Amino acid sequence: MFLIFSIKMKAVINKSFSEVKTTEVIVAKFKEKRETQKVLKFLKTTCPDLMLPHLKLLRKFDDVLEVIIARAEVWPSLKESVIESKVGCILYDFRIVRVSSRVPQVQQQYEVANELWPCSFHRNKLLSALIDGTFFSEIELQFLFSVWEKKMLPIVTYMDAQGAENTIVECPNMLTAIACLKTQWVVCLTEIQVRDHPLAHSVMVGVDCVAKIEGGGAHAYARNHISNGIVIETDLTNENSEDSKYASKSEYLCTNFVAILTHEPCAMCAMALLHSRISSVIYSLPFEQGGCLGSKRNIHLEQNFNHRFNVFKEFKTKELQDVLGCKT
Ligand SMILES: [Zn+2]
Repeated sequence: MFLIFSIKMKAVINKSFSEVKTTEVIVAKFKEKRETQKVLKFLKTTCPDLMLPHLKLLRKFDDVLEVIIARAEVWPSLKESVIESKVGCILYDFRIVRVSSRVPQVQQQYEVANELWPCSFHRNKLLSALIDGTFFSEIELQFLFSVWEKKMLPIVTYMDAQGAENTIVECPNMLTAIACLKTQWVVCLTEIQVRDHPLAHSVMVGVDCVAKIEGGGAHAYARNHISNGIVIETDLTNENSEDSKYASKSEYLCTNFVAILTHEPCAMCAMALLHSRISSVIYSLPFEQGGCLGSKRNIHLEQNFNHRFNVFKEFKTKELQDVLGCKT
C-alpha cells in the first residue's frame, strides 16, 4: 500500500515480544530416520508431558538427525529409563541444545526461535500490527497528521513562545488532544494548567473535559483558550448534541478514543488515561525521569490492571524538538 503520509512512530510493547526466551533440552543424534521413529514413539508413550509442544521433535542438523529427548531439568530422572529402554541401544550421542521456551507470537521472534530449533508459530495479529506499523489505517494516519499539524503544532509553538509550563518536573506534557479515529472528531485539546490547580496536568484536564460529555467532570478550569485567540477546543456544548459525532458518544469516557500528547505522561496522567478506558495513546517525546508509558514503567501493559491500551512513542518527534529548540 502506498502511504501518502509516512508517520513514523514506535509501539511501546512488552520487551518479551522482541526477544526470545530460551531453555535447554537434551538432544540425541541418529544416523537413520527409522531409528528416530522408534524413539519418538517411545517418548510419546513414556513421557508425553515432558516435552515442549511448540517445538518440532526432529530436525536435520549438519546431515545428522537430531531428536529432542527431554527438557534438560528432567533429564537426570529420565536418563536411566531411556538408556535402559529398548531404544536406548540406538542412541549414541547426547548433547544440550538451547531452544525457544515459548511459542513465538511475532515474525521477528519466530525467525530467531526457528533458527535455534524448528518450531510452530502462532501469529498474534495485534502485536504484529503494532510492531510492523500497520495498526492504524492510512485514513487514520492522515487524521492524526492533521490533528498534529493543524491543531496541536500552532498551540505548542505559541505556548513555547510564551514560556510554557512544560518545565514542571512532575509532568512535561504540554498539550493533549483526545479524538475519535472512527468519526474523526477532535473531542478536546487541553493545555497544562498547573497555575490554576497543581493537579491540572494536560491529560487530567482532557479527561475531565470528556467526562463533562457524560454530565460529569470534576473541575471548572479557568482557561478554556489561550490568550492569543487560539481556542482550546472542547466540543462539549449543548449545540453539538444533535451532531452525529456527539450522538455516537455512548461508550464510557475515552473508550475508542485516542489521546495525542506532546510528552510521555507522569504516573497520575497515565493512570487517568487507564481509568478513562482510553484505547490508544500517542506521544512525541519521552519523559525519562518519571514517564509511565515506556520510560519508568509500562502502566498500559501491567497485568494487574483491568484495562490495557496501546501506546506509541516518537510521533512527530523531530517537529516538536524543532519547536522546543530540543528542550526535552
Ligand atoms: Zn501528569
